[in-house]
Amino acid sequence: MQKPKVLLIYTGGTIGMIEDTETGSLRPFDFNHLFNQVPELRRFNIDIDCISFEKPIDSSNMSPKEWVKMAEIIEENYSNFDGFVILHGSDTMAFSASALSFMLENLAKPVIFTGSQLPIGKIRTDGKENLITAIEIAAAKENDKPIVPEVAIYFEYRLYRGNRTHKFNAEHFQAFRSANYPELAEAGIHIKYNYTAMQKVSEKPLLVHKNLDKNIAILKIFPGIDTKVIRAIVKIPELKGLIIETFGAGNAPVIPEMFSLLADAIKKGMIILNVTQCNSGSVEQGRYETSAIFNQIGVIGGKDITTEAAVAKLMFLLGSNLPLLEIKKMLSVSLRGEITE
Ligand code: ASP
Repeated sequence: MQKPKVLLIYTGGTIGMIEDTETGSLRPFDFNHLFNQVPELRRFNIDIDCISFEKPIDSSNMSPKEWVKMAEIIEENYSNFDGFVILHGSDTMAFSASALSFMLENLAKPVIFTGSQLPIGKIRTDGKENLITAIEIAAAKENDKPIVPEVAIYFEYRLYRGNRTHKFNAEHFQAFRSANYPELAEAGIHIKYNYTAMQKVSEKPLLVHKNLDKNIAILKIFPGIDTKVIRAIVKIPELKGLIIETFGAGNAPVIPEMFSLLADAIKKGMIILNVTQCNSGSVEQGRYETSAIFNQIGVIGGKDITTEAAVAKLMFLLGSNLPLLEIKKMLSVSLRGEITE
């Protein structure tokens, strides 16, 4: 039987740094030496190819331009590999994984993001396990079909749906959480897949969407927020989409001027999406008086979407050239398993 083939895409981040033996400082990893750093990879019954961003970056510098680059690498290599592993800094991994989930329509192969909190050259690194298991997951098949035909994040023994994930810890090895959707797998002695939580393998050809519209903003509501903040934001020229991060189940202080500014912006064609500041749970506009007005003025309730997925979904939909009404409809339904319906 032919060995499965996995393409490793190195974009940067801590995982790819090694300590310079002379200076002690961290420098980007030379990917040609990957197998020396992680000799365990040689024992895999998997063919591994590597491709690296010309200039690996800290994931804080990721933008839609790099998301397109990743999507293009996958598109160009799609038919030659069984799965893909993207090595990426953890800081914005949830944003990139969310973006790729929308950009890769009809995905039928695993795209597994991973990284680490400590560089792969460090003795206590979490990077080796993350990398090795991510590769195994990207190659995993059952009845000749990939087990994880979706964009996922593997970190510290757990596999999560990418667009459900949020980085919640800057210190612990367990840096990610998927509060509103079950884990896709847990790695112990065996990798236990949560088959019922997995996306279905698409029979349609892969469609890669590369047009993303960055004309969006996030407004976090806080007690004492002044209307001048809201006025300044809705006046941004060319702003097409605004995510408002609200309290609890989608609530905001009852400030009539704030609501009329938002209502005006919506009338002029802006899309406003209501996302909760809580890590877990869902927006339910109208449950409280403090959110009922959002329904009246046409704010869209984001349900249990993460802010990361909301950013990616808005950029993707605004870049799709669909009519405004259609975009609004799509924000309320699940396109890639990003919200619970
Ligand atoms: N700042 C780094 C990055 O996101 C942190 C990490 O790799 O985990 O690229």
